[in-house]
Amino acid sequence: MSGKLFFAKDIVRKLSPVAVPPVCTKGLGFGEAFAPHMFEVDSIKEDWGTPQINQFHNLSLPPQCSGLHYGLQCFEGLKAYRDKKNNIRLFRPEMNLRRLQNSMNRLVFPRFDEKEMLDCLKELVRIDADHVPAERGYSLYLRPTAIGTNHNLRVGPADRCKLFIITSPVGPYYPTGFKPVSLMVDDEHRRAWPGGTGSSKIGANYAGPIFHQVECAKKGYSQILWLGPGDVVDEVGAMNFMCIWKNKNGERELITAPLDGTILPGVTRDSILSLVRSWGEIKVNEQRFTIHDLVDALKRGDVEEMFGCGTAAIVSPVNGLNFKGTHYDVPCPLETSVTMRLFNTIQDIQYGDVEHEWSTVI
Ligand SMILES: *Cc1c(COP(=O)(O)O)cnc(C)c1O
Repeated sequence: MSGKLFFAKDIVRKLSPVAVPPVCTKGLGFGEAFAPHMFEVDSIKEDWGTPQINQFHNLSLPPQCSGLHYGLQCFEGLKAYRDKKNNIRLFRPEMNLRRLQNSMNRLVFPRFDEKEMLDCLKELVRIDADHVPAERGYSLYLRPTAIGTNHNLRVGPADRCKLFIITSPVGPYYPTGFKPVSLMVDDEHRRAWPGGTGSSKIGANYAGPIFHQVECAKKGYSQILWLGPGDVVDEVGAMNFMCIWKNKNGERELITAPLDGTILPGVTRDSILSLVRSWGEIKVNEQRFTIHDLVDALKRGDVEEMFGCGTAAIVSPVNGLNFKGTHYDVPCPLETSVTMRLFNTIQDIQYGDVEHEWSTVI
């Protein structure tokens, strides 16, 4: 059953009466500045109300709402890019909105029309187009979010919800070139588990790991490599994890965990797998592998590269790994790496330097 949908043609605009000058993104951290407008639409029961684009503002919420108490919250992350002809582009946005729909489904929020939501997103980006920075590495980060806004403390599905999009001009993830990370393998705590919510992009998946991330940083490592039952390799921090190695048959292979419900289905992950398959040079294997497979391969010298991948960084090369107190250096060829080739190939598409069906001018 699905209630009243919302449509982009019905957007009510209450825009800033004066043009707000874009901020300087140089030296700015992630998500510290915001463009002047935001998209909002609220639901009651199954029915969506009128979609709105308003000036960026703080929200007024019932302090008893489930978004603040029971983790009824999910979000997305994607970017708008400015190409050399001054067009604004999005990279595979329909994948993010499909994933948002799935996450919202998981939280029993009402369904929305994905095409209409995409049109709303595009409209917001067009209105704040001046806030999409130019130059490689720069972008306007888009953060669609849904929260339970019900007026009671009941533990149950929210009978009210708010779907909104805020946008944030961001500078390059690597202002001074690739910065490799070191990983601490956590074989004690879990980010996700079979039957859990690992494949939904919900805030709760981020709240749990924060404590362990702080412990990891205290030990001098940048990210946690999360494992699942049977010591299988899961994800790295909040990124998907990939390794290029010589497999047991001696073939050059890119291996990553399959989408079995514990792994977040990353748009970057999907894009990388598809690109590497299209090259036809490296075998692609979406299969479970354990930390022991990984450490054995490192000891044998069979690992070529390891990296994390996600929208923020695209790829994040790994140069070291600690497992049970032993540090292993990880080969990190940087300039000549597949990691670097993927980084450049994906950026070429995102910034429209190479025409590709994944990148659309809005
Ligand atoms: C968002 C996210 C990713 C990366 O997804 P992209 O669509 O590539 O940005 C990977 N793992 C987790 C846990 C995430 O939340």
